[in-house]
Amino acid sequence: MAFNIAIDGPAGAGKSTVAKRVAKELSYIYVDTGAMYRAMALFFLREGIAGEDEAAIRAACERVSVTLSNEGGEQQVFLNGENVNGLIREEKVGAMAAAVGAYRAVREKLTQLQREMAAGTDLVMDGRDIGTCVLPDAQVKVYLTASVETRGRRRFLELQEKGVGCSLEKICEDIEKRDFQDMNREISPLRQAEDAVLIDSSDLGIEEVTGKILDLARARREQEQAEG
Ligand code: C5P
Repeated sequence: MAFNIAIDGPAGAGKSTVAKRVAKELSYIYVDTGAMYRAMALFFLREGIAGEDEAAIRAACERVSVTLSNEGGEQQVFLNGENVNGLIREEKVGAMAAAVGAYRAVREKLTQLQREMAAGTDLVMDGRDIGTCVLPDAQVKVYLTASVETRGRRRFLELQEKGVGCSLEKICEDIEKRDFQDMNREISPLRQAEDAVLIDSSDLGIEEVTGKILDLARARREQEQAEG
């Protein structure tokens, strides 16, 4: 059986940075499910469909194919065959992803794909509903969070480094709004799975968080081996 590590948590908690490192260390595949929601969102934006129009989005789901490949350890996401990796990080795509992620048609499509990938491959998958819904039997589940202030400051520094002008206050507001949307939607809301280990990264560095998750994974693997 494949070994699956599920990492969930709110935006900006450091999931993708840590998940990538854990995957590299264990030679597992890393799957960023947020990128899949973002690719779907890009499709709807291009089609001019409003985020509130659930019926149009449901119908459009039939015309979307999202696939992933791994090139040199980096995940590439394809929308109907086109590599859209460089096009999905804008705030408007993220906002659309959060809006359409509330719809059953979108979630069912991506959840199925995610389960298929995880069934046959050792992987680290990050998102919002991996431990609770997509992979309830994952061998390791982590809920990674951090305070709004910490997440806001990290995002602010990231954007400053890229030369993008922004205000810390606005970033924190956006983060709170996204948290609210993700935690309060009806289907697969963001929450900690009962059997997930909570890690608050507010006062921890990337190395420390990565180390904690690796310790959990190694302990679980040893336990599985001992049980035969
Ligand atoms: O993690 P990222 O910011 O790229 O995700 C964008 C949005 O996609 C999230 O705010 C969330 O609404 C949605 N998402 C989700 N379930 C996942 C991953 C992402 O609903 N497993």
